[in-house]
Amino acid sequence: MEDQTRSIVEQSLNALLENETFLSDLQGEMRNKAFTSLNAILSTPNQIHKSFLRVPLEGGEVVRIPSYRVHHNDALGPYKGGIRFHESVNEEEVVNLAFLMTLKNALHNVPFGGGKGGIVINPKVYSEKELNRICIKYVRYFNDIIGPEKDIPAPDVGSGEREMDWMMAEYKKINPGKPYHGSFTGKSVVNGGSLGRREATGKGVYFTFRYLLNDYVKRNAINLSSSTNPFAQTALGYLDRPLTSAVQGFGNVGSVTALEAFRCPHIQNKVVAVSDRNVTLYNPDGLDIPALVDFTAKNRGDLPTTAEQLNAVNVTAEIQSRETILTMDVDVLFLAALENQLNDANKSLVKARMIVEGANAPTTQEADEYLSKNGVIIIPDILANAGGVIVSYLEWLQGRETQFLTEEQVYNQLLGQMGATLDMILPQYFGDPFPLRQNCYIHSVTRLSTVLYRQGKLY
Ligand code: GLU
Repeated sequence: MEDQTRSIVEQSLNALLENETFLSDLQGEMRNKAFTSLNAILSTPNQIHKSFLRVPLEGGEVVRIPSYRVHHNDALGPYKGGIRFHESVNEEEVVNLAFLMTLKNALHNVPFGGGKGGIVINPKVYSEKELNRICIKYVRYFNDIIGPEKDIPAPDVGSGEREMDWMMAEYKKINPGKPYHGSFTGKSVVNGGSLGRREATGKGVYFTFRYLLNDYVKRNAINLSSSTNPFAQTALGYLDRPLTSAVQGFGNVGSVTALEAFRCPHIQNKVVAVSDRNVTLYNPDGLDIPALVDFTAKNRGDLPTTAEQLNAVNVTAEIQSRETILTMDVDVLFLAALENQLNDANKSLVKARMIVEGANAPTTQEADEYLSKNGVIIIPDILANAGGVIVSYLEWLQGRETQFLTEEQVYNQLLGQMGATLDMILPQYFGDPFPLRQNCYIHSVTRLSTVLYRQGKLY
């Protein structure tokens, strides 16, 4: 996974090296050296911090929990990124996710660098009190390297408002007299969080898809119809007809994306399948998403897994295994679970011609190349799932000024920012044969390279 990010950054730098107008002060041998330096800087994190948290459990035993905080790059601002709570967390994964944060923030012009954290646990097997202790320990162990102007963590897979509230409280306690509102984002609203932060990632994921199709492609349909670009042809095939979608993952991102699709007034978009770690639910006539959201809210986040549970909430659906969603015959596949979901083993079975990455890195390099070559549009993670960090930035600003925005103001700013990024990227995407991921990386790398050069980091 890490290699994928690295190799696309390298390809982007090669494309920029050829572009004479980019960093035109740098010529000849100096130019080659500067590009080699840029590759070295961007493909390596600044620091990897690792601790083994010492946590006493309620049963009396003391355990050691491996945990990470990676600082990838802070050229654009303080390090920023979530803390993942998952048993498969490992150093390589956290480094890659931090790298993606650097690229994501650069792409959307968010004035933050890239960071990421991870705690190697399955949060479902710990009591609330134990989780609270784990969060407190995480802050104590990493206190020296985090802070509102240094590194601002947020939720990621397995963590949410509750954990951010606990962490901010501990940060405040052990740093008396220092500003603390901006130490963590993704907090609950009563505790200084932003309205709309919880829904921001899922809303942004759906918005990116909708904007691409319903705004950009529709508006430019006449020009695009004479284009030989394979992605333009794919997109035109999606206009003015009812669409079917499937959403993999029904957590904070997937459930909101599914609701947005269910309620979308602009595109007739039936959500025929959703899935989580246990099941896929399928109904060719469309699923009752609000009823499923209500069910998960009352059942620790899990979708119904039996006919009785479906009956109890009046939902009609076929119960299938969790993997079937990935190869279903649908128009749009939203990936909002974990990484490496579309891979070498299933890439040739994927039927959706449009894939939207709500999770980070859900498509492996092999699958990405294979699908892109076949004209499948993949809206990549750093473009589609930036809603969370964009609203985190708004939360950080609100915390500094203790002035709060209304929910409407938050959404207007979120969609305005994502729309601006799409307006910058899409003309280029439909004009050249590169996949969308490559286009996004070129934009991020352009911004980062210019800043690193101007900061004198290439000597
Ligand atoms: N964990 C989220 C992401 O991967 C949000 C990060 C943040 O808000 O800082 O983008």
